[in-house]
Amino acid sequence: MWDELLELDRGRVWHPYGPMPAVVPPLPVVSAEGVRLKLADGRELIDGMASWWCAIHGYRNPEIDEAVREQLDRMAHVMFGGLTHEGAIRLAERLTDWTGLDHVFFADSGSVSVEVAIKLVLQYWHGERRKLLTWRGGYHGDTFGAMAVCDPDGGMHSMWKGTLAEHVFAPLPEWTPEWEQAVRQLFEDHDDLAGVIVEPIVQGAGGMRFHPPECVALLRELCDTHEVPLVLDEIATGFGRTGTLFAAAEHADILCLGKALTGGYMTLAATLCTAAVAERLNGPLMHGPTFMANPLATAAALASTNILSNGAWRSDVARIETGLSAGLQDVSGSRVKGAIGVIELDAPVDVAGVTAVAVEHGVWLRPFRNLIYTMPPYITSDEDLTRITEAMVACASS
Ligand SMILES: *Cc1c(COP(=O)(O)O)cnc(C)c1O
Repeated sequence: MWDELLELDRGRVWHPYGPMPAVVPPLPVVSAEGVRLKLADGRELIDGMASWWCAIHGYRNPEIDEAVREQLDRMAHVMFGGLTHEGAIRLAERLTDWTGLDHVFFADSGSVSVEVAIKLVLQYWHGERRKLLTWRGGYHGDTFGAMAVCDPDGGMHSMWKGTLAEHVFAPLPEWTPEWEQAVRQLFEDHDDLAGVIVEPIVQGAGGMRFHPPECVALLRELCDTHEVPLVLDEIATGFGRTGTLFAAAEHADILCLGKALTGGYMTLAATLCTAAVAERLNGPLMHGPTFMANPLATAAALASTNILSNGAWRSDVARIETGLSAGLQDVSGSRVKGAIGVIELDAPVDVAGVTAVAVEHGVWLRPFRNLIYTMPPYITSDEDLTRITEAMVACASS
């Protein structure tokens, strides 16, 4: 059966950033449990990616499974225009309590939550200001508004030239006097900035780079001085990944959350903002996705955040940080922050070749560019973590 299915997949189904027809066949997954993916041929792989950083509690978590089943017995979906439901209200209550922000817009993916954040900023200025400032090396999603604030080189700006809005780019974040001076200068040079948008502490898909909190604090200071809103994209860093519940949410006027929000069960994202931002909008916020605040997704998010609220994730992420540091300490070009481990190589990796090496080691990794990295589920045992770092090391030397 799988021969036939894979042939259909190859010819008819697009995979992320893939050509048509596909060149490298994907691996068929039939089920998953804990941190393990089960393949059609019976092999099991430890998921070092947590399904693109989302499945923080692993697969088939009994509490989230139960919450989604229970919701399914009541209603899978209902429109959010003119109607509401308890799950959305309770989740909004929790997210505002946790972040200190006042209002929540539920979006159906991270990219859309970034689009909504950009609309908030533009509506804040009633369209009089349209330029955003960000720094190089960022990633904010694949829709057009989001792409325009991604790294101009890695984000394929040349491919979309003329289509993307043109924004202001600061150098890659690093806490040096030169960097600080360059950022201060950009604020001086652009008195028409509508807002600032960055990923705090960790730049994810733009290059898996880390920067110290001083970089975000400087933006906060400059946003205060110049009276422009600061958008923090914590779609990757939110919900414990870097060792704290959020990387820098306390600095945000507008905050984007996604990925781990539902524990990786369902697509859901959120854009939060302060009352001060909401009060300045020119009328209603002009966005409203069909599947806004989908009840199955809000049920999964409530269950996932419920698990986080017992605080066990804190010691798990610290334990994973220790394990990753131990496993990667002798590897040149490696770095670790929270439950994120990265090996940066000198040259681009052969994704298919490296993936095959990882699979031989019983581990699922999905490198990109010159980066072999892991963002495992928080429940990953020390033993499985060792297998992940061994696989990463083998990949790096393959
Ligand atoms: C993944 C990601 C996005 C985009 O989210 P999607 O759900 O893929 O649209 C935006 N910003 C950051 C920081 C991300 O990591």
